[in-house]
Amino acid sequence: MSRQNFSRTTRDDAFLWNARANIGVIDGIAIEEQYMPQKEAGLIYWCENCKFCHTDRMYFDVDHLVPDRQMRGSSNAANTAINAVILCKSYEAGARGCNQAKGARLWPPPGAGLAYTRRELDMNWLEPRLRGANTHWG
Ligand SMILES: [Zn+2]
Repeated sequence: MSRQNFSRTTRDDAFLWNARANIGVIDGIAIEEQYMPQKEAGLIYWCENCKFCHTDRMYFDVDHLVPDRQMRGSSNAANTAINAVILCKSYEAGARGCNQAKGARLWPPPGAGLAYTRRELDMNWLEPRLRGANTHWG
């Protein structure tokens, strides 16, 4: 289980940055035509691993990019927005969200995420396998 040590403000900042980044071009994200108004308004969040896209925060968690136990120097740095990553989350049994599939690993295993398990909810129409390397594995 990931710990939630981010302040509410930091979490809000991370979500804001995430949705705004989606207004531009991100490799592996192609928002369905019907959701373009929401995209242009900066309302669509995306999982930084599987690139599942949705307007509802209930499908996402803010997690640490570098685990706070591995962060050198100030332990406060681990809980700033620069160390925040948005991952999809399991909102029901079997959803296998990236955050929960990650567990104690540094990054979710391949094939994890709502992009695979909840395709019908995904506002990103690209086939999950065609979304390319994820943001942090390169
Ligand atoms: Zn995901």
